[in-house]
Amino acid sequence: ATPTALLVGTGRAAQLGIVIKGPEILESTRRVDTMVLDKTGTVTEGRMRLADVLAPAAADGSGWTDGTRADVLRLAGAVEAGSEHPIARAVADAAQEAARAGGTTLPRARDFFNHAGRGVSATVDDGGTARDVLVGRPSWLAGQDVAGTGPDDDVTRAHAHAETDGATAVVVAWEGRARGVLVLRDEVKATSAQAVAQIKELGITPYLLTGDNRAAAERVADEVGIAPEHVIAEVLPEDKLDVVRSLQDRGRVVGVVGDGVNDAAALAQAGRQGLGLAMGTGTDAAIEASDITLVRGDLRSAPTAIRISRKTLRIIK
Ligand code: ADP
Ligand code: MG
Repeated sequence: ATPTALLVGTGRAAQLGIVIKGPEILESTRRVDTMVLDKTGTVTEGRMRLADVLAPAAADGSGWTDGTRADVLRLAGAVEAGSEHPIARAVADAAQEAARAGGTTLPRARDFFNHAGRGVSATVDDGGTARDVLVGRPSWLAGQDVAGTGPDDDVTRAHAHAETDGATAVVVAWEGRARGVLVLRDEVKATSAQAVAQIKELGITPYLLTGDNRAAAERVADEVGIAPEHVIAEVLPEDKLDVVRSLQDRGRVVGVVGDGVNDAAALAQAGRQGLGLAMGTGTDAAIEASDITLVRGDLRSAPTAIRISRKTLRIIK
């Protein structure tokens, strides 16, 4: 039989928008000593906005100069319309708006593919011309035999420059050549710094885990109070799981807080020995893979859950 105190604990949590899958989970919640936080959508709003479109003039000597920025946005927007990623939403919305302002509509894309943690691709019907368009991280594009992705190429340099500045940047390519860069920015949630401070007060070490670039990750970490040595950036979705596992192998009891499809495996792995917490504002995949749902999408609910579990189990013991 479940002790009444446990039910009181989960009931109290539920009132605060912290849905715990079962009373037995309070025990692992209590023991968590390491909290791995996903960046986009967990610590940040996950609502990116397009800050800039860069199209280095005639990068390929093909004569693409003026108008290229508009082409970059239009073709990228047509592809990203097929994705739910925060980057995709920002790009598709901005492209749609630009098209509307120009009295046109976005071209149609077919054969859309989402390459998780890397980018997206599709064939866009651009006024009768079919163009194979890719949008994503430069290392992925380079591996797809896209020209203009070498370290000294204009597009690569524009991309690196934007990322050094703490933005998230993706490269747009079509017809086998990199054509431009989209620069995106995301805001840290107003409550994230306080949440991290509360996590530290509980004696728990916070980590930041992301597929995004290191400079953008460090900027967010600095803003919320996570040490730079606890920033794990540029991690592919399938490798997030290994990050959790290696912390567990070092004897840590790991809690993971995430919101994306990309976080589901890491959340499930955390749940084996520690705790998976999903943002209620996140994807169904993340919620299903986790032990606790933070309904309000407020990171402060994570330390609150720990506090409630510690208090509840103190009462029992
Ligand atoms: P996070 O861990 O921050 O949620 P992801 O693993 O989803 O990040 O994505 C990592 C990187 O992969 C992005 O920063 C971007 O470079 C690229 N990427 C992922 N999805 C897309 C997309 N829809 N369009 C363009 N680039 C993408
Ligand atoms: Mg995320």
